[in-house]
Amino acid sequence: MTTQQYDSFESFGFKPQILRGVTEAGFTTPSPIQIEAIPYILEGRDLIGQAQTGTGKTAAFGLPAMNRIEIADRVDLLVITPTRELATQVSDELFKLGRFAGMRTVTIYGGQSSYRQVDLVNRGAQIVVATPGRLLDLLSSGRLKNFSPSIVILDEADEMLDMGFLDDIKEIFKFLPKERQTLMFSATMPAPIRDLAGRILRDPVSVKVTPSEETANKDIAQQYYVIEEHERDDAILRLFDSEEPSKSIVFVRTKKEADRLSTMLIAKGYSAKGLHGDMEQKSREEVIKSFKNNQLDILVATDVAARGLDVKDVSHVFNYHIPFDPESYVHRIGRTGRAGKKGIAVTLVTPLEYKELQRIKKIAGSDIRRESVPTLGDVRKAHSGKLINSVLNARLNEEAQHLLNALEEQIDIQQLALKALSLLIEKQNITGPDSIGLTAQRLEKMLNDQRRDHRPSSSRRGGAKGGGYSKFRKPYGGGNRDRGSFSGKGRSTRYEDR
Ligand code: AMP
Repeated sequence: MTTQQYDSFESFGFKPQILRGVTEAGFTTPSPIQIEAIPYILEGRDLIGQAQTGTGKTAAFGLPAMNRIEIADRVDLLVITPTRELATQVSDELFKLGRFAGMRTVTIYGGQSSYRQVDLVNRGAQIVVATPGRLLDLLSSGRLKNFSPSIVILDEADEMLDMGFLDDIKEIFKFLPKERQTLMFSATMPAPIRDLAGRILRDPVSVKVTPSEETANKDIAQQYYVIEEHERDDAILRLFDSEEPSKSIVFVRTKKEADRLSTMLIAKGYSAKGLHGDMEQKSREEVIKSFKNNQLDILVATDVAARGLDVKDVSHVFNYHIPFDPESYVHRIGRTGRAGKKGIAVTLVTPLEYKELQRIKKIAGSDIRRESVPTLGDVRKAHSGKLINSVLNARLNEEAQHLLNALEEQIDIQQLALKALSLLIEKQNITGPDSIGLTAQRLEKMLNDQRRDHRPSSSRRGGAKGGGYSKFRKPYGGGNRDRGSFSGKGRSTRYEDR
């Protein structure tokens, strides 16, 4: 099967209600694991998927599974996850994507009264997302009536092994119908998991997405700078001064921002112009032409206006704001590093946007490195080296000799040289605060918080068998919690219209 043709969610042939969930979630382009896995799952094949959280794997199994099941008063899709946190996360995602198709999801885990959970399932949910312990209790006590899901998904199987759930899982499968479609997702495939796959899957296809395979373009060095919200302009100016890009595109979110930023850059002496959808076709063409002909150094553009822009020799792409999704990121940075040339992609992020950056890194498989914004002193030092070179190599000008003759009478030669150099330095116009971006201390704290968030906590490990609560969501009902994804509330629209 070729994966080339799956470049949009429409191309998978989903039902319109499922597509609506995708659109409302703000997903525009399928992620690599989705492109790989969805067609097989839609065909009804069993599948082993190797992909990590953050790659879009929930939608990779959730969308085709929900597309295949029928809306009847019985459970048709079962997802088993190792922890209750993951169970909640998966059920949130399935609710978000499946609500227009009328999917009802119940989340089942230990700790809370099982009475309510059983009641909700028996009242006609189509999807159950469960942790192994409680699910096995309910199945072995026969309390889940008419429970024969046609699709069963094991999520994070290697984590289940680590948590000692393997025997429970094997037991659970004894209660499930023999005729079923089974999908297993696991970041790693240790021997016991391969053995489990051999028992529960039938002629499975394997799909694997590792971030390293996805790296967009090796000719593009990708870097990010953590700054405070109010420092964006200072950071951009400082990076222009330090990087000295020959030709660059600055991506912004709105037309207004494109106008404001290009005006600010012009006022600071840069050769810049805005490019956005509100401009007349003719002036857009003129701007692009002067950018192509090197009469313009900086293009400040919105995503929409820069779509398909093919300009040679763009040395730098700056993301003034982090893009909304991984696809825009890959598209934006692809404006540089073209035709075998090297390019640099710079992204400014605030601590609040840091999580989005991590997600982009994972989904786009990009190696984006953290750098610090150079201080005023750093840039001045770098520039003075260049100034020395240009003074030493300057060709003598006849008029300079006349000027020197005239000045010699009035000023000491050393004073004169100092004044002349000062004038040159002032012309470089390197200004702004000395340091820009998060202090080392704040950055360290932020990164520690991040690391702590990613580590499985003791409550997470114990949680699957411990306390919990269940949720029951009605179609079109509220309660969808935004987990801060690209697709979350307020992020599903493109901002070009503002
Ligand atoms: P997951 O790997 O399933 O935990 O997904 C990570 C995040 O990416 C979730 O918040 C999803 O809503 C989001 N996501 C999944 N697929 C896409 C897509 N194709 N485009 C944009 N965001 C996506």
